[in-house]
Amino acid sequence: MRKKGIVAIVGRPNVGKSSLFNRIIREKKSIVEDIPGVTRDRIYGNAEWLTRQFIIIDTGGITLEDQPFAKEIKIQAEIAMTEADVIVFLLNHQDGLTDEDKVIARILYKTKKPVIVAVNKYDKKGLSTDAYEYMSIGLGEPIMISSTHGIGVGDLLDKMIAEMPKIEDEIKDDRTRMAIIGKPNVGKSSLVNSLVGEERMIVSEIAGTTLDAVDSNLQVNGKKYTLIDTAGIRRKSKVFETIEKYSYLRSLTTINSADIVLLMIDSSVKITDQDTNIGGLAYEERKPIIIIANKWDLVKDKEKQILKKEDEIRAYFKYLQYAKIIFVSAHDKTRIGKIFEAVEDVKEALNRKIKTSVFNEVLNRAQLINPAPNHNGGRLKIYYGSQVEAYLPTFVMFVNNPSYVHFSYKRFLENQIRLQFGFDGVPITLLFRERK
Ligand code: GDP
Ligand code: GDP
Repeated sequence: MRKKGIVAIVGRPNVGKSSLFNRIIREKKSIVEDIPGVTRDRIYGNAEWLTRQFIIIDTGGITLEDQPFAKEIKIQAEIAMTEADVIVFLLNHQDGLTDEDKVIARILYKTKKPVIVAVNKYDKKGLSTDAYEYMSIGLGEPIMISSTHGIGVGDLLDKMIAEMPKIEDEIKDDRTRMAIIGKPNVGKSSLVNSLVGEERMIVSEIAGTTLDAVDSNLQVNGKKYTLIDTAGIRRKSKVFETIEKYSYLRSLTTINSADIVLLMIDSSVKITDQDTNIGGLAYEERKPIIIIANKWDLVKDKEKQILKKEDEIRAYFKYLQYAKIIFVSAHDKTRIGKIFEAVEDVKEALNRKIKTSVFNEVLNRAQLINPAPNHNGGRLKIYYGSQVEAYLPTFVMFVNNPSYVHFSYKRFLENQIRLQFGFDGVPITLLFRERK
């Protein structure tokens, strides 16, 4: 289980949320450029501080049209309280403490999660005696920062990490955690219903506003599984789910909690950008993934269509070539068992260990049939390699010069490894080191 902590920034407009967000996220533009959806203006990002990786959310990016401030800020705070492990409440020192800040503070009192108060635009150096003013809201001692100058941001990051639960160490049991993701109407809640039964209706569906995630446990063939956030899947909330950015965020946080991602699409209609954007999230988070092509009952001439449909899916999800595709009908409950077979295959692939001697034979043969092209002023030569201990299958190769590795040659090597050893459904990592 590899779950990252999640930090959300809340605060009224103009306090500097997106400035702080941008200072903290680690840009990864180069590798994700050709993946649809992931380079758009986004409200979440990956960050790292003192070797701890976490996800950071700028709730200010979730906007609702024609909503009064009080309503908008309430939704932002609720989203933070639901999705995040740590909440940063940002204020603006140039304005001091405002009534609107007090409104937000009152909402945040309700959460059991750690809230860190940070006061932004504190651009001057010196003692932060000004901090006392902000203690009156009762959320603890604030950290004075300047997002644009970087002052105090390190202290804030220290505090975030300190408050973040050690999630990586927390989850150690024999359950396989699965996230079912996909755009609205592909059949996610139908699948959940056919797996856990209709009777488990979720209370918050009636209450409407509580956003507590509810997981469902089930057992299939003696193996234990957890479906993450089944409440979120079934809830057809009017306000939240219609905010596209929020639905992506929700997908991301669900993916983050999962061992294996089930990406559902509707096989009876064409694939859209929203499908591939959601798939891109799972890819980016480097999660094992299975594509569930649902509503297969609606497709006529199945024998003839299956290969065509597979090609179509592969063409749209170019970056998910390693994912298995399973055609099911959640409605008729047909082929549902295949999902669990595929999940077990993925688990087996995650634990597969390749013998070094066999791996090196494959490396040698790969270089014989297709020697590396000249790149960056030299030709790559791989001397030897081996699989190393890691959560995802990871191979280290010792080479004459890592800068000679061309992207397409790396992909060729990955394909050769997959051809020989499978690893269906799981991302694999290839690392190149210079042999001294
Ligand atoms: P948001 O609406 O809360 O996301 O706020 P923004 O990040 O968009 O910032 C609003 C304005 O405040 C922008 O003009 C920023 O350049 C400015 N700003 C943000 N952080 C600081 C800061 O630390 N010091 C100063 N002086 N200005 C800042
Ligand atoms: P969600 O928004 O992804 O949770 O989708 P739902 O489970 O609510 O399904 C949306 C619609 O598709 C509903 O009318 C379902 O009855 C229908 N549906 C779901 N799965 C199937 C399926 O396998 N076959 C057919 N024909 N319809 C389905």
